[in-house]
Amino acid sequence: MVVVGGGLAGIAAALDCARDGASVTLLESRGRLGGAAYSFTRDGLIADNGQHVFLRCCTEYRDLLERIGAAELVTLQRRLAIAVLAPGRPPAWLSRSGLPAPLHLAASVARYRPLGARERAALVPALRALRAVDPDDPRADRRSFGAWLAEHRQGERSVAALWELIVRPTLNLPVAEASLAQVAQVFQQGLLGDRAAGDVGYATVPLGEIHDVAARRALERARVEVHLRRAAAAIVPDGGGFRVESGGAPSLIADAVILAVPHDRAARLLPPGSGCDRAALSDLGTSPIVNLHVVYDRRVLGLPFAACVQTPVQWLFDRTEASGLARGQYLTLPLSCARPELELSVDELRDRFLPALAALLPAARGARVEAFFVTRAHAATFRASPGARALRPGPRTAIPGLALAGAWTDTGWPATMEGAVRSGRAAACEVRSALARRVPERAMVAA
Ligand SMILES: Cc1cc2nc3c(=O)[nH]c(=O)nc-3n(C[C@H](O)[C@H](O)[C@H](O)COP(=O)(O)OP(=O)(O)OC[C@H]3O[C@@H](n4cnc5c(N)ncnc54)[C@H](O)[C@@H]3O)c2cc1C
Repeated sequence: MVVVGGGLAGIAAALDCARDGASVTLLESRGRLGGAAYSFTRDGLIADNGQHVFLRCCTEYRDLLERIGAAELVTLQRRLAIAVLAPGRPPAWLSRSGLPAPLHLAASVARYRPLGARERAALVPALRALRAVDPDDPRADRRSFGAWLAEHRQGERSVAALWELIVRPTLNLPVAEASLAQVAQVFQQGLLGDRAAGDVGYATVPLGEIHDVAARRALERARVEVHLRRAAAAIVPDGGGFRVESGGAPSLIADAVILAVPHDRAARLLPPGSGCDRAALSDLGTSPIVNLHVVYDRRVLGLPFAACVQTPVQWLFDRTEASGLARGQYLTLPLSCARPELELSVDELRDRFLPALAALLPAARGARVEAFFVTRAHAATFRASPGARALRPGPRTAIPGLALAGAWTDTGWPATMEGAVRSGRAAACEVRSALARRVPERAMVAA
């Protein structure tokens, strides 16, 4: 069997298929595994392409970390606690108590200073109503979350100081462009169900050590043959199996193929007769993420991470230790759905964001900036906008033995590491049952 794509979806699929006893070959076009979640070196600093956060409710991603021996390379909060910074103000906190959900958030919401008393009171019925939305209801998927918020008496300040803080980084879209069903899924999974579900986790080492190095070791142990720098150019159904062609290398013959590449590549690689709607895949669209990387000559942030309001800064992460920086502090500023920032030059971003950081962090005012660079992911995620769910295919195609994986497939989750792993496991499951169906069919033909 062949898995095409070595992101988290492909890694998870390959490990499951190998565990089921299949002989698996994984093709990855780049020189490393990990897909959209990777590291690179810049002037001696090991940086990630973008801050990758997960929550305690990301059970499949966390399980993958265990399986590849990387669970010790991440940290997970004992209890949700997010500092919310605003210029000239002491931090506010979004945190949980030990009470059962949804009461675990009650005290924090009641004290949340970026909102006034009336706004805080109006949050309670809105959160209750969001808890009642069925994330699998196609009508909810077609509705705009922005319009829904307006109907539920959420004004501009509540949107900016609370809803955007959670929706923008999880869906990579502003609330006005998000699908109600997708937002309901995020809140129900992460905040309104189990009290511990929203505890925040992230890597304490560069992402490449987890998604490339540790994953590659685990695949090796599972006897998966990994070919890096080898792109699949075509998948050709051939005599009940498949021929996977890649330019410059011999074709591979496989009884099954899992296609675990981004949706635009999948649209190009899917053979005729797959039953997948290429126009629908293109309608899923893309949304960018820009990451700013700032190295100061001293410590300017006394927190591991923080969310920010009333400033162009969205979130801040301290990556000093993870990057191996010996002196000073290395901060990253992920900017979700950063369409305007994508167009700005490094100098323009510097001119805009360094003063914003100085306004948020008093210690940054006298500090020297030793490095400032930018990473841009033009097509970081698909767009979970109204109607997106109907465009996301499941793992099964019309060609038995050919399955789809990727965070963009119909996992119910937004484009996340969790969604990617879930999709890979679902594709492995689909291939297993397609092959099991094929055996009796062949036996009948032989008889
Ligand atoms: C900057 C950024 C920040 C993010 N932040 C978060 C976050 O905080 N939390 C979170 O959960 N998620 C986050 N995400 C999303 C998350 O990274 C992705 O949803 C997930 O990694 C996607 O995994 P995947 O395996 O589905 O796809 P990909 O990671 O895109 O993997 C697909 C792989 O297929 C390979 N490929 C493509 N074409 C071919 C071919 N023809 N032959 C062989 N191989 C091919 C590609 O090189 C790639 O390695 C972020 C993404 C980005 C870009």
